[in-house]
Amino acid sequence: MTDSLVNLMDLDPDTLKDFVVAHGEKPFRATQLLKWIYQWGVVNFDEMTNIKKETRALLKEISYIHAPEIVSEQKSSDGTIKWAMDIGDGQLVETVFIPEKERNTLCISTQVGCPIKCAFCRTGKSGFNRNLKVSEIIGQVWRAASRVGFSQNQEQKPISNVVMMGMGEPLLNVQNVLSVVKLLLSDNAFALSKRRVTISTAGVVPTINKIAGKVDVALALSLHAPNDELRNELVPINQKFPLKDLLAAVRNYVDNSNANCGRVTIEYVLLDHVNDSMDQAHELAQLLKDLPCKINLIPFNPHEESEFKRPSNSRIDRFYKVLVEQYGFTVVTRTTRGDDIAAACGQLAGQVKDRRLKEQMAAAERLHEQSIAAHIDTKSLV
Ligand code: SAH
Repeated sequence: MTDSLVNLMDLDPDTLKDFVVAHGEKPFRATQLLKWIYQWGVVNFDEMTNIKKETRALLKEISYIHAPEIVSEQKSSDGTIKWAMDIGDGQLVETVFIPEKERNTLCISTQVGCPIKCAFCRTGKSGFNRNLKVSEIIGQVWRAASRVGFSQNQEQKPISNVVMMGMGEPLLNVQNVLSVVKLLLSDNAFALSKRRVTISTAGVVPTINKIAGKVDVALALSLHAPNDELRNELVPINQKFPLKDLLAAVRNYVDNSNANCGRVTIEYVLLDHVNDSMDQAHELAQLLKDLPCKINLIPFNPHEESEFKRPSNSRIDRFYKVLVEQYGFTVVTRTTRGDDIAAACGQLAGQVKDRRLKEQMAAAERLHEQSIAAHIDTKSLV
């Protein structure tokens, strides 16, 4: 595959249409291609029987279709599956499939490593290399579907939910993430409901404001602390974008969204004797009192790169009860899935060639400025 050929998985529904039209084809070819690739799992042009032979020959001359290859698969005793996928250069990203009674969730990565460096997260410890391309993100969904099943227009989808909670910060790769969202939502591709696609962010405030009202999928905010002082330590991007601005941005996003049903999901990792005291539960309740939200408590998943500990069940319970019984919040304590194969939240490490940039925050900022500067085409998502 040479550089001059286009990987069709790098194109979203709009740019795929532009691409086929630019090569003298009718726009409906793009619809046919999307259906073959994302609903039937077919990537060999010769099998696309409703596309005439000459067009298939043309497509082979100008393009190819490629998703990252799976290099390892680990299955947890609870049914969770973790795949490592090869994105070239000896680097691997991880994707996790979590089957449940009511839904089957796929957790995908958006960057190779992560520049945000939350104090407790293993992904951050492995450094940061680069943003994933559209084909490397949607390709994770395609590969997973090739194992667990494509939708093929079925009601009951083998992958019903997609969460961007794997490696990386989705809002530092916003341009590609938005193309991926278009493919996940398109009726001709994965056809997921916007309520079943979640972008999780550590809090890239200008980007949240930029996409508010233009992109409509579920938003989850990784909060993890009830005040700026502690959050500056746990989630360093808070030093740049403090809580007041962050919560205003999140509110703005949710106010302009249907996908969230008026409520944002707050993720709060419980770290033993760091952010899990009674006082902190009250402080958190005060902080969130005007924000329509539901709270996801995530007991810390230990890993060898971290000193933090998971609180005892009684501490978790006490924290939960303050929020629910004294303040009436909707709170879910997230069950740990796949921890026997290091597939739980914050345990994904992949294989990252850290660029060892002088300052990881500088890298994060540059990427972020680029995303903001770039023209974000969000028309079709409104
Ligand atoms: N960068 C995005 C996407 C990552 S999502 C974000 O921060 O939201 C992964 C979620 O798991 C985040 O809420 C993250 O803070 C949390 N997490 C990270 N490490 C964890 C760990 N060791 N145990 C439990 N949760 C963790």
